[in-house]
Amino acid sequence: MARRRSTDAPSFMVPVVTRFAPSPTGYLHLGHAYAAKVARDLAREHDGRFLLRFEDIDHTRVRPDYYEAAEEDLGWLGLDWDGTPLRQTGRGAAYAAALARLQEIGAVYPCFCTRREIEEELSRMASAPHGPEGSHYPGICRRLGQEERESKLASGASPSWRLDAARAAEIAGPLSFTDLRHGVIPVEAGILGDTILARKDIGTSYHLAVVVDDAFQQVSHVTRGEDLLSSTHIHRILQSLLGFPEPVYLHHELIKDEAGVRLAKRADSLSIRRLRESGMTPAEILRGFPG
Ligand code: GLU
Repeated sequence: MARRRSTDAPSFMVPVVTRFAPSPTGYLHLGHAYAAKVARDLAREHDGRFLLRFEDIDHTRVRPDYYEAAEEDLGWLGLDWDGTPLRQTGRGAAYAAALARLQEIGAVYPCFCTRREIEEELSRMASAPHGPEGSHYPGICRRLGQEERESKLASGASPSWRLDAARAAEIAGPLSFTDLRHGVIPVEAGILGDTILARKDIGTSYHLAVVVDDAFQQVSHVTRGEDLLSSTHIHRILQSLLGFPEPVYLHHELIKDEAGVRLAKRADSLSIRRLRESGMTPAEILRGFPG
């Protein structure tokens, strides 16, 4: 059978692999349960696999008991996953290798700025660059000369690494991604500006880790909330730069409470645990979700 080239239109001809990727920084709430159900259902409809991945790179926010709690809540809901859950904390070498590749091709640059320096620069600018997620990085370290960069690195300063959005767009050329709800979306490389791909303190970022792990786990269909739609532009560029396959996307709607507030903002009151204690059954919870 011919191998699918990454430029072919994505389809259901591949073995379908989906994943649910919570961060163990709190108890799962209704929004998580919906995200897990969407991923589980898509895999089951196509005789595929549904994986669980713990996005735990931010050790400052992770708590050990939330891993087990998440597994218990998913099990109680009947949203069983295939195989052993993957933990991002064990994947540092893979993220470092991807970052090294991006450094080699010049798609990233080191940034030595403090938050305060960035804020000061933004307030000096007549019109600060911004996008759907707020102000963009104003490019201070993109403008450093090679010598200055090297001397800062040699002096032991530990930088974060930022996507050079303009350079990355040049290298990758025009790209798009396919979303099962929204259709084909052309990639805007600058949608988040020169966003951070490797934080100083943890050496990676959500963007880099998710792209590396979706490729590693051979995820064919990435399902997640539509609040992450702008991140997908960055992920698609990284896939192209790193030579990874292109998954199909499904950005689903977000579950809100009666007052229209996103559940992530009030996780505790609608945690699966709390609902379970209040006597709700898994069927009642799953039935309430959009079809
Ligand atoms: N860890 C992310 C979250 O909890 C999921 C990101 C993704 O599915 O790509 O929102």
